Amino acid sequence: MSARDDDAIWPAAVATLKSLVLLAARRLLQGRPAMMTDNIFKKIIDGQLPARILHEDELCLAFHDLHPQAPVHVLIIPRQVIRTHADIQPEHQALLGHLHLVAARLAQQLGLSAGYRLVLNCREQAGQTVPHLHLHLLGGRAMGWPPG
Ligand code: 5GP
Repeated sequence: MSARDDDAIWPAAVATLKSLVLLAARRLLQGRPAMMTDNIFKKIIDGQLPARILHEDELCLAFHDLHPQAPVHVLIIPRQVIRTHADIQPEHQALLGHLHLVAARLAQQLGLSAGYRLVLNCREQAGQTVPHLHLHLLGGRAMGWPPG
């Protein structure tokens, strides 16, 4: 191999590496579930879809997650449609506080005295799939950190 051939290898190697990194990034992004266009939680609020409801009041609903990630996995949702956490406004302050009070009360009722985790995924990169703000109340097992 001549010195000239050797010089030509590096740009090609860098270009190959770049395309592999781009491919891996694209695969990772595609593997992440996208945000649904349909608001299935609004259908639960309107009684068009069934749910195992634990709590209901004038402001919110709490029900068991369909695909639980822990022995206790409850979703707490406002009746009002707020697509994401990034859409909250000053007028939602009391409502957001109410969701937390309901979460704390449910955690107590469900026997999570050893601890629990509240998760709120905001938009696609954080893993939000349902376009309706919601709190995940998770408990009943030890939780790892950092979260995935
Ligand atoms: P996100 O990914 O948006 O933070 O959370 C959405 C959650 O809703 C997921 O944990 C998912 O399992 C749950 N989920 C999706 N569809 C339904 C459904 O039809 N009923 C119930 N109870 N939970 C659902």
